[in-house]
Amino acid sequence: MRINERAANIKASSTLALTAKAKELRAAGADILSFTAGEPDFDTPKHIRDAAKSALDEGFTKYTPSSGTAELREAICAKLKKDNGLSYEPAQIVVSNGAKHSLFNAFYTILDDGDEVVTPAPYWVSYAEIITMCGGAPVPVYTNEADGFKADAGLIERAITAKTKAIIINSPSNPAGVVYNRGELAEIAEIAKKYDLAIISDEVYEKLIFDDGLEHVSAASLNDDALNRSIIINGVSKSYSMTGWRIGYAAAPRDVAAAMGNLQSHATSNPNSIAQKAAFAALVGDGAPVEDMRLAFKSRRDVIMKAIDETPGISAVCPQGAFYVFVNVEKLVGGDIDGMKINDAADVAAALLSRENVVVVPGADFGYANYIRLSFAISEEEIGKGMDRIKNFISECYSF
Ligand code: PMP
Ligand code: GLU
Repeated sequence: MRINERAANIKASSTLALTAKAKELRAAGADILSFTAGEPDFDTPKHIRDAAKSALDEGFTKYTPSSGTAELREAICAKLKKDNGLSYEPAQIVVSNGAKHSLFNAFYTILDDGDEVVTPAPYWVSYAEIITMCGGAPVPVYTNEADGFKADAGLIERAITAKTKAIIINSPSNPAGVVYNRGELAEIAEIAKKYDLAIISDEVYEKLIFDDGLEHVSAASLNDDALNRSIIINGVSKSYSMTGWRIGYAAAPRDVAAAMGNLQSHATSNPNSIAQKAAFAALVGDGAPVEDMRLAFKSRRDVIMKAIDETPGISAVCPQGAFYVFVNVEKLVGGDIDGMKINDAADVAAALLSRENVVVVPGADFGYANYIRLSFAISEEEIGKGMDRIKNFISECYSF
């Protein structure tokens, strides 16, 4: 059967594919250390699991309103008020099957064919694909390590054309852990106002910010203009260790939320009813497990950064949030290893896997061919072992 051009051009998600590959190799008995996982390794907190069990026992197993239950949308509004100082009504919230689905709904709803979306790079792998699926064109704005991978307003403005429809802000970011402060966001919001652009603010890592003095600021909270041109994307996957439950949400101006809801009502209907009950329990329940996880990630961040700093041939900007570090492996590129040419970070990753059983995500799908992404959503012991293997690989294959 012929696959149409639109579908044929979609690439599989490399983050998901490599995470699956690492699990498969491990299941086959290999002693794999995987830095791929874009998901917390903790169990979903007990009170959340209990809420799901009760939902099942109480027969909460039918269709819900397509955009999510009233109680969950109200809880999301209360969360947005409490954490972000934002006033939304339930009609402005669409609950979907993960934040990824919310992003799809958002881009499908606002992009016409050929519209451009300014996408600060390095960017999360799925942005470019989702924008393309929705008929748009991602326009990467390349930042650099020396500037901490931050896109400033000037850089963003230079990427704007007559076709630009939206700017993505992802703070804290995947894969570099960049956190934008209020002033930086205000300058970007001014640009959005000047060119009448939507702001897609992906805040899924909001609860994972490590350093004192840094806080999460939602771009929508800056002023009324920013609020009216923002679609906030968030969810429970990362904050509450609920990646498999598939609950994300968007908060948007009323007409945009209604259009996204209409789209969802035909595409998927409501997200899983039991998972919605669990997400409700997450949002209204005890926040202590979230803070415990943040502290664990902070300590892991320190462990992995120390190991990277001690390893010759690689460097990285210290992530301020999320649970990834984007590592420059440019000095490892060139020459060959075991007869294999090393032309980019994907080749470095392949050699690391074959020699040391370490799985990492090559940077090309994040916009940078000479970088790899290491997730530190694994135990400190695994981080230590994995970094020892990377050190060993470098000392055996290179002379620094
Ligand atoms: N945004 C970013 C930046 C992410 O890293 C992820 C990770 N999967 C998502 C959105 C989507 O999260 P989910 O669909 O699991 O809610
Ligand atoms: N967002 C995570 C990651 O970047 C999970 C996998 C995915 O959805 O891409 O690894």
